[in-house]
Amino acid sequence: MLRIRFHGRGGQGMKTASRILGSTFFLAGYEVQDAPRYGAERRGAPMFAYVRADTKIINERGIITRPDLVVVADDSLLFLPAAGVMAGVSPHSLLLVQSSHTPEEIRKTVAAPCPVLVLAPTSSEDGRTIFPRAGSACAAAAAQLLGLSRQFFSDAMAMELADLSKQLRTENVATARDAFQQMEDNDYRVVEQPEPAAFSAAQPNWIELPFEDATISAPAIHGRATSLHMDTGSWRTLSPIIHHDKCSRCGLCHTYCPDGAISNDQDGFPCIDYTHCKGCLICLVQCPLQAIESIPEQGPLQDKQKEDRKCADS
Ligand code: SF4
Ligand code: SF4
Repeated sequence: MLRIRFHGRGGQGMKTASRILGSTFFLAGYEVQDAPRYGAERRGAPMFAYVRADTKIINERGIITRPDLVVVADDSLLFLPAAGVMAGVSPHSLLLVQSSHTPEEIRKTVAAPCPVLVLAPTSSEDGRTIFPRAGSACAAAAAQLLGLSRQFFSDAMAMELADLSKQLRTENVATARDAFQQMEDNDYRVVEQPEPAAFSAAQPNWIELPFEDATISAPAIHGRATSLHMDTGSWRTLSPIIHHDKCSRCGLCHTYCPDGAISNDQDGFPCIDYTHCKGCLICLVQCPLQAIESIPEQGPLQDKQKEDRKCADS
């Protein structure tokens, strides 16, 4: 059985990547499972999707714990323990990361016990690295590493992206073609690992939970304001930037921010707490004067802009 796990952030298309790869396997005659697993509720939060493919009936269920291939859409996830990118990765596995870093840099950073490959970004703007259409890029790279037919991949992609406009479909096909080419030297690089013998399974680490009545065992909140300790700013893929020269100080962004991440400075201008702004961009949609812009969440330019927009009184 082949086991593939795609890691990304909500909105980066990893569910679509797993569907495209799953359909490609299916068209090639495999038995297939594919499923996404979401953690927190929104765009930017770490999530993963997985695909199992076999020529026999698949009886295994649940999250993949022994991946043959791990595909990472965004190298910032490597630094988030909650994303679980390295879970179950063994010397047999292959780690493919979309990144502008080298495989050696990544291998050292995450102490990967397995080979690492890098899928280079396909475009950049203003000197910033961006990963457009990550779903198609990651699915195509995975298909090439697994030695799947490009014709089946292209048919699967046409099925899964049928609802997109013609232009978006064309752009996705071009991205996939580029990813295939980047992985051309690694055709069939991913292989199945031997199934563990039944007697080698680890004993479950049982925990005895004593029976307690509801006054003791019912859930309780033991402290207030704990959400302050949750750094949801690390979820962002796009950052809102407020242009004070266009802002009328109407306060709508402040009112609509679901995380209370916008406050007003002493002059009444909104300012963003980037430690807790999760990048949902509701503020951008609500602003009647288009005074809020979104920019990709990386690079010195953004740091400078954020610095310029700090609360005057913070
Ligand atoms: S509404 Fe704006 S400031 Fe609030 S969390 Fe969303 S993106 Fe961040
Ligand atoms: S909604 Fe727009 S105009 Fe109103 S305070 Fe926010 S940024 Fe300024």
